[in-house]
Amino acid sequence: MRTELVSEPGLADHPNEDFASVALPASGQGGSLVVLDGVTPPRGSTGCLHSVPWFTARLGGALTELTVSLADVPLSDVLSRAIARTSAAHAATCDLSHPRTPQATVVLARWSPDLVEYLVLSDSALLVEAPAGTVTAVLDDRLARLPRSALATDAIVDAGFRNKEGGFFTAAADPAVAARAVTGALPRAEVRTLAALTDGAARWVEKFREGDWADCLALVRKQGAQALVDRVRELEHGDAAGAREFLGRSKTHDDATVVYAEL
Ligand SMILES: [Zn+2]
Repeated sequence: MRTELVSEPGLADHPNEDFASVALPASGQGGSLVVLDGVTPPRGSTGCLHSVPWFTARLGGALTELTVSLADVPLSDVLSRAIARTSAAHAATCDLSHPRTPQATVVLARWSPDLVEYLVLSDSALLVEAPAGTVTAVLDDRLARLPRSALATDAIVDAGFRNKEGGFFTAAADPAVAARAVTGALPRAEVRTLAALTDGAARWVEKFREGDWADCLALVRKQGAQALVDRVRELEHGDAAGAREFLGRSKTHDDATVVYAEL
């Protein structure tokens, strides 16, 4: 088994709001990975005393523990319990009903001797490679289906697309959102490799079109997760005008996280 984990902030003067972990339980036969991308709130009140990294550390920590300690509980229930635990940690001090309360995209995967389970909520990606080399990207494409005019963070929040029917869903304060995630399971024998990417790393495919998902996984395998992030930064810096065109209204540099696991 080989695992690799890289997470880099988009800007040196702004804390990394992503979270990543791999858990390999004592039984030695299974494990889990967790990748979160904390949503940067627009300026103004969030109703919360805490930072986005405070939120992603608590939610990610709870998910890391619960994916392995509750090995028989489905991942959507694990997410629901982790959100409830995180909400309880600041319900007494913060207004958790505020639309800008801290929130994050979620990728979870958990493997046992027989099964690989996965969960994707919002716009991070999970790549699943079969033994024959076929790569499938598990994506929650609700965000991609929103009208283009809504695709700026402020517009999404202000137009109320977030965590509303017909919009898109992130893990915030309401445990019920877990039922909205894309979930599934595959026989362990059908999965050779997993790679989870936040959109800051997935832009290698989705914005810069350097290759397809299979190319992206091949690059991480051969050159390492750091090489993927380095290449993204190079593209972002290389041709500022060109990069802006590719990136549209998204951030020039975003936190970029890659977790790679050869099972
Ligand atoms: Zn708070």
